[in-house]
Amino acid sequence: MVSAFDNAMKQLDQVAPFLGKEYIRGLKLLRFPQKILSKKISIKTDNGKNKSFQAYRIQFNDARGPYKGGIRYHINVSEDEVKALSFWMAVKCAVVGIPYGGAKGGIVVDPSTLSRGESQRLTFAYADFIAPYIGPWIDVPAPDVNTDGQIMAWLLEAYEKKVGYQAPATFTGKPIELGGSQGRTEATGLGGVTVLKEFLKKCPTSPRLRGTKLAVQGFGNVGYWFAHFAQKEGFKVVAVSNSKGGIYNSKGLDIDKLIDSFKSNITNEELLALPVDILVPAALENAITKENADRVRAKVVFEMANGPTTPEADEILAKRKIDVIPDVLTNAGGVTVSYFEWAQNLNGYYWEKEEVLNKERKIMIKAFNDIYQLVKEKKITYRKAAFILAIKRIIDAMMLRGRV
Ligand code: NAD
Repeated sequence: MVSAFDNAMKQLDQVAPFLGKEYIRGLKLLRFPQKILSKKISIKTDNGKNKSFQAYRIQFNDARGPYKGGIRYHINVSEDEVKALSFWMAVKCAVVGIPYGGAKGGIVVDPSTLSRGESQRLTFAYADFIAPYIGPWIDVPAPDVNTDGQIMAWLLEAYEKKVGYQAPATFTGKPIELGGSQGRTEATGLGGVTVLKEFLKKCPTSPRLRGTKLAVQGFGNVGYWFAHFAQKEGFKVVAVSNSKGGIYNSKGLDIDKLIDSFKSNITNEELLALPVDILVPAALENAITKENADRVRAKVVFEMANGPTTPEADEILAKRKIDVIPDVLTNAGGVTVSYFEWAQNLNGYYWEKEEVLNKERKIMIKAFNDIYQLVKEKKITYRKAAFILAIKRIIDAMMLRGRV
């Protein structure tokens, strides 16, 4: 079993040679989260029985601002996975220069087995567990895999009942009616397409935009919106998939027709090996490993999921001169608009969608260019450049606070 946190630490190790001696202590501290919250929470099921679920919230680092990160409902959630995801959140917020640290949460549950009432009760129980440790200036949760605006609405209700006042800035990814931001739902996918366009502009050897073939693994919030905007921009999306399988048509798919359902004609493993220009893993961690990295035929791996490429696969892809554009940059559009949502909540003043998306675009383009400069200057991979930039920013903040 590949440990996501071991992978995250291998990525951290690769940064050390590029930072000065004064960063060594900070690098050591960054191997440990600041707080691990772990608890069995229980609910009454619809048939009156008590059932308990393992739940986590891990607050990795808050040197640059309040902890920030999503909550995942998935049967494979583990302390190791949440720890890795919380570390990557700290890195991601630093990559795009927004004033947050990193955190993540999760419940070990298969949400498809829950009724709506059970899901609500489980969410209330989770809110009860984390309420003492969160808040607009402490830790700001958001949606992740299998959680959405409805879950955020329930969390907000439970939290506000507990503290006794309105506190919308405690959660992001809320429905618009409860203080959500315009543009948040599509922000991650749109931010990814913005970075992809910028990357293709900068790289003369890359395939040209129009007609460029993409395969997208994962067709949830991130995968769907990414594919939707990519198609709108003139890319040819030839394959998408969900946990059950994928659909491939070398002439291109009509993305919006597939939202409700599609008939699979390929497996997820086959999708990874399709003859496309750009492969977009947008599902879960460890999709591209040392076992299948040799089969990737794309010229670019554009990570939209968190942690989809293991360090061993990264090495294989680098040797094969396949550029990997890393998650901590490409999917940071979501947390960027979450930051806008938080800022709007704190001000009680709301922006129009155009303003939100223009501001997001600017941040994503700047982050890409900061990383691109480093890639060219030091002749390193995009991931290494992103990590150098981010880890330096985090440790600088730790040093300023006197933690190092
Ligand atoms: P989601 O629950 O909306 O969708 C997940 C998708 O992946 C679904 O289509 C599911 O069927 C598919 N999937 C699950 N297991 C799979 C497998 N083994 N093979 C292929 N497909 C599989 O989740 P999401 O919000 O789209 O998140 C996807 C990824 O993006 C996660 O890694 C998440 O951490 C990351 N991410 C999400 C956001 C966000 O704003 N939602 C932001 C940044 C990063």
